[in-house]
Amino acid sequence: MADSNHYKVIIVGSGPAGLTAAIYAARAELKPLVLEGNQPGGQLTITTDVENFPGFPDGIMGPQLMEDMRTQANKFGADTRFEVVDKVDMSSRPFKIESDSGKYTADALIIATGASARLLGMDSETRLMGRGVSACATCDGFFYKDKEVLVVGGGDSALEEATFLTKFASKVTVVHRRDEFRASKIMVEKAKQNPKVEFAYNKVIDEILGEEFVTGASLKDTKTGELSEVSADGIFMAIGHTPNTQIFKDNIDLDENGYINTIPGTTKTNMEGVFACGDVQDTLINRRLLQQVPVVWLPWMQNIFLKDKY
Ligand code: NAP
Repeated sequence: MADSNHYKVIIVGSGPAGLTAAIYAARAELKPLVLEGNQPGGQLTITTDVENFPGFPDGIMGPQLMEDMRTQANKFGADTRFEVVDKVDMSSRPFKIESDSGKYTADALIIATGASARLLGMDSETRLMGRGVSACATCDGFFYKDKEVLVVGGGDSALEEATFLTKFASKVTVVHRRDEFRASKIMVEKAKQNPKVEFAYNKVIDEILGEEFVTGASLKDTKTGELSEVSADGIFMAIGHTPNTQIFKDNIDLDENGYINTIPGTTKTNMEGVFACGDVQDTLINRRLLQQVPVVWLPWMQNIFLKDKY
């Protein structure tokens, strides 16, 4: 009797990359299982309007887009489950995958677990998350109409988010730990030319202030150690992303930042039968799904099903 917990393909992760893989695998009649993880639909589910996804001239809400992708995958026979994978054994085939609710085996594994926003890791940040602290300007910027906000970071995300937030906020201060930016010149110039954007150079957040809601921050000068206080209604963290590769790290080849190394031009990893797609292996555009387009994903998927044999 066939083992009902055995699949030809198991996909871990359910953002656009995972669900695109599911659509292709299902249409190839591989009857994939998608284990969706603890944020079903991925990062797009915490955003609002998606205006740069081809085919939606009037935009589409992030959660709706992901719901539609799941429905499309299900329509072709993909089995999608709200389960979180906590253990993967790739030492022999079939691969063994354990989730919070089941044990499975698979001939092939597609890793599409994405990346998560990096945070500062302080208690006040955890306590005030969603109460003024945010890691997503696109999601939460709207709530800061005529308010003052801080954006932490000096990369493209920080500068882009600072400019974006001026649509709503009366003042945006970029808090950066250095006086030179990692961000591209064009992003920096755009922010500098915006009269609502100010810069706090050589400063880090020492503490986030506020009881129920954020009221400001204590900043520490990275050169002198001097502390100062600034008032703010919101603090947006834009200090990069961390790839969700913890459970795969013992077997899979990762780069120095923890992203999965794939063979250039393919979705193949160093393990035969294990593939990776989306943000989890994307060190070039390695963050915002909002800026990715399916044109990028489709060839990845075709690589899996047309070129790679397993
Ligand atoms: P990033 O380039 O890694 O920048 C992270 C920033 O956060 C850096 O300025 C870093 O400071 C700062 N930082 C890190 N940890 C910190 C901490 N604990 N405390 C204070 N500051 C901290 O990340 P990103 O801005 O998210 O960009 C990621 C990639 O996406 C980049 O390749 C970027 O070019 C790309 N991107 C492109 C666009 C676009 O083209 N539209 C938009 C967004 C992102 P240091 O500089 O001192 O290290």
